[in-house]
Amino acid sequence: MISVEDALAQILERVHLLGREKVALLSSLGRVLAEPIVALKEIPPWPNSAMDGFALLAAETTGASESRPVALQVVGAIPAGVLPSRPLGGGEVMRIFTGAPLPEGADSVIPQEEVARQDNHVLIRRPVAEGEFVRPRGEDIRAGDEVLAAGQEITPAEIGLLASLGHASVMVYDQPRVAVLSTGDELVEIDQEQKPGKIINSNSYSLMAQVRDAGGIPVNLGIAPDHLASIEERLRWGLSADLIVTSAGVSVGEYDFVRSALERIGAQLHLWQVSMRPGKPITFGTAGAVPVFGLPGNPVSAMVTFELFVRPALRKMGGHGQIFRPTLTALAIGPIENPGQRRGYLRVTLHARDGAFWARLTGNQGSAILKSMVQADGLAVAPPATTISAGGPVVVIPLRREFTREVDAAP
Ligand code: AMP
Ligand code: MG
Repeated sequence: MISVEDALAQILERVHLLGREKVALLSSLGRVLAEPIVALKEIPPWPNSAMDGFALLAAETTGASESRPVALQVVGAIPAGVLPSRPLGGGEVMRIFTGAPLPEGADSVIPQEEVARQDNHVLIRRPVAEGEFVRPRGEDIRAGDEVLAAGQEITPAEIGLLASLGHASVMVYDQPRVAVLSTGDELVEIDQEQKPGKIINSNSYSLMAQVRDAGGIPVNLGIAPDHLASIEERLRWGLSADLIVTSAGVSVGEYDFVRSALERIGAQLHLWQVSMRPGKPITFGTAGAVPVFGLPGNPVSAMVTFELFVRPALRKMGGHGQIFRPTLTALAIGPIENPGQRRGYLRVTLHARDGAFWARLTGNQGSAILKSMVQADGLAVAPPATTISAGGPVVVIPLRREFTREVDAAP
């Protein structure tokens, strides 16, 4: 039996980056950027006003006060989107609006609320500091800056930035297409009649959802009975995908044919059995360029092994700069026991309190208790043959987005 780290290393060494494609800007939401974005221009392109007010030269207002205001002549107006018609001269101001370019000869803006108007003059009652209420050229972005790196996931903020730099389309990595196969004589589809002894195939759905969540595109291969040739046939359909995931039939029972079926489609099997709980029997192989995963059948084991092994593989194939979820250290609410000889991945809820995260077991940790995955905010990593005492530190892999940022213990 090998460790989780060794298994991961073997897997990641054998999965490769997919291709790239150009997509329309908005369609790139949630995709992974496949090229660095270097700004070719400054944003903002010219110094502009941060307020509705009057553009002026700060030096003209030296010594201005309530009792001795400085009067400056209003010589024009600059609405947003219009260039000033001429430079500003001595003793002059120009009416200016938010976002409008500053005229040459001006270096600051005084908000309109602060001045008194008198005919075609304004009265300035305080000295204005150079640069006040001016957004300098290049304040946000300088030409030549690498503003986005390849491997970055595109969120609404990236979309806005790309738009502001004039990218109507963007190069992103291909999403891995993942064929998902469930095996087992006991399985029926959601919409089939559930005869006695049969259960609904839920793994295909949780796994396809995990594929999507990891940035991939699921392809449903349905259910194969525990029959070598049937499993082999469906696995062959999966060879046109970028990766194949199966569930169940990988233990040592008489009806466990997945490993043999994988060999019959030409897969080389690189590992079996990882020292972890839940989910010891996990198979990884490669059929030509297609990585294949045989995950265990118990619903929690299937999801946890997907999380630990398939997700990083998919993220690597899809060009993600961050393959693994960041972990956090929480404090145990109540003791967390792992008497066995394998590392435990225990379902916990996470609670923020007094500037720290606290982790509480969700209850029954059986590998068929799918409800506990619904409750879990994360997986607590419990070393073999140890008890983490109440209040003791425990490493947690957060599974929900709300917890995916590393948080300092101190507020
Ligand atoms: P196996 O790995 O074939 O021994 O299956 C282990 C357990 O997982 C058994 O209780 C199966 O009924 C259950 N199981 C296998 N496949 C699925 C599936 N697709 N959906 C839900 N439960 C499953
Ligand atoms: Mg079975």
